[in-house]
Amino acid sequence: MSPKPSCRCGAKAVYFRAYNGESLCAKCFSASIFEKTKKTISKYGMLNFRDSVAVAISGGKDSSSLLYVLNEVMKGHGSKLQALTVDEGINGYRDESVKNAKELAEKLSIPLLVCSYEEFFGFALDDALEQRKDKGISSTSCAVCGPLRRRSIDNAAKALGANVVATAHNLDDVLQTFFINLHSGDTERIKWLSPAYKESSENFKLRRIKPFLEIYEQELAFFAYANNLPFQSESCPYMNEGIRTEIRTYLNKLEQSHPGAKYSTLRTVLQIANGLEGSLPKKEIRTCSKCGSVSTGEVCSVCKTLVQFQ
Ligand code: SF4
Repeated sequence: MSPKPSCRCGAKAVYFRAYNGESLCAKCFSASIFEKTKKTISKYGMLNFRDSVAVAISGGKDSSSLLYVLNEVMKGHGSKLQALTVDEGINGYRDESVKNAKELAEKLSIPLLVCSYEEFFGFALDDALEQRKDKGISSTSCAVCGPLRRRSIDNAAKALGANVVATAHNLDDVLQTFFINLHSGDTERIKWLSPAYKESSENFKLRRIKPFLEIYEQELAFFAYANNLPFQSESCPYMNEGIRTEIRTYLNKLEQSHPGAKYSTLRTVLQIANGLEGSLPKKEIRTCSKCGSVSTGEVCSVCKTLVQFQ
């Protein structure tokens, strides 16, 4: 199938979906993203009436699009919508994205809570990562940052009184995470990819949802651009250290020669994750002996990370 000059509505087509042969104008393209998100929320039962939703926004294209889309599709749903931003302390990168996040939240009149690693852990990510060589720590930047980021999002959501955290993980992110965990043999983390997976504790019940689960990353970039959303186009300077970039390149090549390959792989990945969610023995939810947070081990991953830098 090849691109057509006109959209089905007759307007000039500006986007071609190779996986289903649709040529779309900017308006019909945006409408399709709203529709797809609504369907995903309903298909996986992501939201309930009167949920209090905190959207984790970084100021990048995906999360800016998420806040914009949820603000629209949740109208009349009876749920509360707020936003949170975590400033990890990445010099020359995060400042601009925090500025974009604030600008968008203000434009949409959505309350935004900005918090930082400095506030939660007492250091900026840049400073911690610089110490790795001296301390003989071989972990990649994302392996250090990831648990701290998740904990910061939880803390911020808790401060906002939210029971749901919405993140902008898209179809590409989910596939990349699957292959990373497949390579490292981490079946527990593959289970976390299941939309049915819920983390809970007696003190704090938090449902994590990914409303963009079935949307391609490149479509979110186009959506942000087509809707004139403020977003940071630079990527995190630490993002290319692990194998994620190689996996991204492999999946993009595959999609280019076999349009729709990513989407069919996602269906298989979700079946595997759902199967693991139903069959793997449930890990006992405990309390971390150091910080008292929910943990599947004696010490949580955040405390294990922090202890390396003390
Ligand atoms: Fe942290 Fe890695 Fe994300 Fe950068 S790419 S913010 S280092 S998890």
